[in-house]
Amino acid sequence: MVISVFIKLKSIVPIKPTWVDICINSCCAYTGKFKDNELCEYCHMPRFQAGSSTRKPRRQMAFFSIKDRLKIQYQDPKGSEKLKYRANYTHRQGFGSDGKIGDIFDGNTKNSCLMDTLKMIEILL
Ligand SMILES: [Zn+2]
Repeated sequence: MVISVFIKLKSIVPIKPTWVDICINSCCAYTGKFKDNELCEYCHMPRFQAGSSTRKPRRQMAFFSIKDRLKIQYQDPKGSEKLKYRANYTHRQGFGSDGKIGDIFDGNTKNSCLMDTLKMIEILL
């Protein structure tokens, strides 16, 4: 099952996932402060298969970095064009005087969210 999912993902996404050990009950991922744990911090189930001399994890999940996902989005010309829509959008003329909104991006909240997003992308790239 995991292998067929991996093969399907590989055909869709041209990046390699980072496989992360997770609790068999999906309580946590063995990263950060849990990276060396052999038992789940929450349900106390063992991380590795019993009798496994190679310490095979009981369950893993695929992790795709946001940096790689953004790279893929911007490498695709159609996707990149769609992503530019927000950057190229200017406020509709007359916004605020007639109460009509040209696009969701006319709101003030959009401007602060957009700036936060752009800062995040700049940090990641
Ligand atoms: Zn657990």
